[in-house]
Amino acid sequence: TEDMPASRAANGEEFDDYTYWAGDDPQARAAFSASARQVRAPSGERMGAVLAYQEITDLMRAMRVKDEFVSSVSHELRTPLTTVLGYLELLTDRDDLPPDAAAQLQVAQRNARRLLALVSDVLHVARAGAGHLVLRPTQTDLSSLVREAVDTSRPMAERSGVALHVDVGHRQCATVDDQRLRQVVDNLVSNAIKYSSDGDEVTITLRVGDSVELEVSDSGAGIPAAEIPHVFDPFFRGAQARDDQISGTGLGLSVVDSIVAAHGGEVTLQSEVGRGSAFRVTLPLG
Ligand code: ADP
Repeated sequence: TEDMPASRAANGEEFDDYTYWAGDDPQARAAFSASARQVRAPSGERMGAVLAYQEITDLMRAMRVKDEFVSSVSHELRTPLTTVLGYLELLTDRDDLPPDAAAQLQVAQRNARRLLALVSDVLHVARAGAGHLVLRPTQTDLSSLVREAVDTSRPMAERSGVALHVDVGHRQCATVDDQRLRQVVDNLVSNAIKYSSDGDEVTITLRVGDSVELEVSDSGAGIPAAEIPHVFDPFFRGAQARDDQISGTGLGLSVVDSIVAAHGGEVTLQSEVGRGSAFRVTLPLG
């Protein structure tokens, strides 16, 4: 009862767009969005509260159908794509291919991998949105995990003339979902390189003390203050990234945010246009 909008308003709270389901029967229940404001006399004395309710049952049902649709379509796309990739791999391993066919196969393979990464990200975001992100935590050497992730990004950094500095210590361990955490590091490091240019620097530091602290900072493009609150939203892309046609889907940071949140941690961002960005991930020791 104390969670209902009227009780919260009576206790002096003010809120916007508080959504809840009323009723137990899944077929007949209704969804509402409620907002509340306190009403005060000119003297400041509290006289009561005003509540506004909007029925949003259809909207909530439509959103659920959309999430289920996105989730099942991306799941269905993954299986045939994995098969395509498997056969492409078998083909590229052959040494009797004419050189032009080998080059064409590599293009096909690169794009099929991109498609698979995109489909996996969409599926991930749909699951996280529905609260279905399941973690498989194991005791993990984070120093090696971060070092391996950075090594994977090294060729990309070299091509762009970006220097990588790694300060991750030796055998710093914690209980995390290693595959998902690897995704966090991959996404942050590849963004730091992607939004930097020749001569810029990217620094990755890891400290495991009372909590896990991972920081990925760059001296690259930076993010305008107005965009900072949105960068973790699914499908958000910065105006500069779109104008410069930098490849991306706008899902990377949303994936980072959902994985960090599933670990009970948080990710914060400091950035200034022209000076660079610093993403800091904090995870509690579990
Ligand atoms: P994508 O990189 O595919 O666009 P992300 O979710 O990874 O998607 O990032 C969202 C947006 O945040 C990017 O489009 C870009 O504008 C901004 N951004 C992310 N990381 C950085 C960074 N290190 N430096 C500057 N801008 C960044």
